[in-house]
Amino acid sequence: MSDMRLHILGCGSAVPTPRHNPSCQVLERRGELMMIDCGEGAQSMMRRMRLRYNRLRHIFISHLHGDHCFGLPGLLSTMALHEAGGTVTVHILREGADLFARMMEQFCGPVSYRLEWDILDPAERRVIVDRDDFTVESFPLYHRVACCGFLFREKAKPRHLLGDMANFYGVPHYRRQEIRMGADFVMPDGTVIPNDRLTREADPALSYAYCSDTMAAKRVAKVVEGVDTLYHEATYGDDNAALARKRGHSTARQAGEIAAMAGARRLVIGHYSKRYNDEEQLRREAASVFAGQVIAANEGMTIDLGNGDIAGA
Ligand SMILES: [Zn+2]
Repeated sequence: MSDMRLHILGCGSAVPTPRHNPSCQVLERRGELMMIDCGEGAQSMMRRMRLRYNRLRHIFISHLHGDHCFGLPGLLSTMALHEAGGTVTVHILREGADLFARMMEQFCGPVSYRLEWDILDPAERRVIVDRDDFTVESFPLYHRVACCGFLFREKAKPRHLLGDMANFYGVPHYRRQEIRMGADFVMPDGTVIPNDRLTREADPALSYAYCSDTMAAKRVAKVVEGVDTLYHEATYGDDNAALARKRGHSTARQAGEIAAMAGARRLVIGHYSKRYNDEEQLRREAASVFAGQVIAANEGMTIDLGNGDIAGA
């Protein structure tokens, strides 16, 4: 199991149906949970998928259409009832922050955790979370209203130290971190032990991009270039390409084309129109133009972002 896993809580568009909830995902990284969009059904799906409220630290809302944010007041309120602690940061457009902050005042009063609102800029690419080993960027998508995509990226990881070899050459403990970062070791007599004799390759730094809702845009492919796993909305199939264009959405084929243009390793599609009873058609259309792995998201599914293994759906 790798460090990053993606849980699908909702992958329908517009309205809840018996088959799908509106958009909601949880990205899990080393035990921390980050929610991406929060459509209705978010909290019940968290319970069903055994994702714990007190591990949720960030919520990213791409835009202010109800199918991406109507789950938010309910979720924040339930977290208060569970007496969740720590800080929860909601990354959202200005109007959304104003509205939902007022709702929280009206319905919840003071909550058990620290609730912060981080205002997104829908016009420009920005780093919105910056840690030693991980960043999150927001970037513009192209929909009928202001809309942000999110790019989650691990920074390069340290190499694995070969303990036996380090002991054999007498590498002192205080030098071991720089050896992990790639330095050679110089012995007291001046002999240089090259780094590759003391370490083996680092685990790959993983990345994930979330693109919903948007029309297919080369500019988006450019921003997410080289990403491991791309989630791209695929609201419609080839049969409704004109409708996709009219409503500021994409077809599954276009999602595949963006993944190919970006050089992604894997594509996850979702945000399905309710007119489709079987997403296999959409998956095939995306796969016809993209050679990498194509996964049709489904509620309850967990995807290992390292090896692409799928569980639970
Ligand atoms: Zn939507």
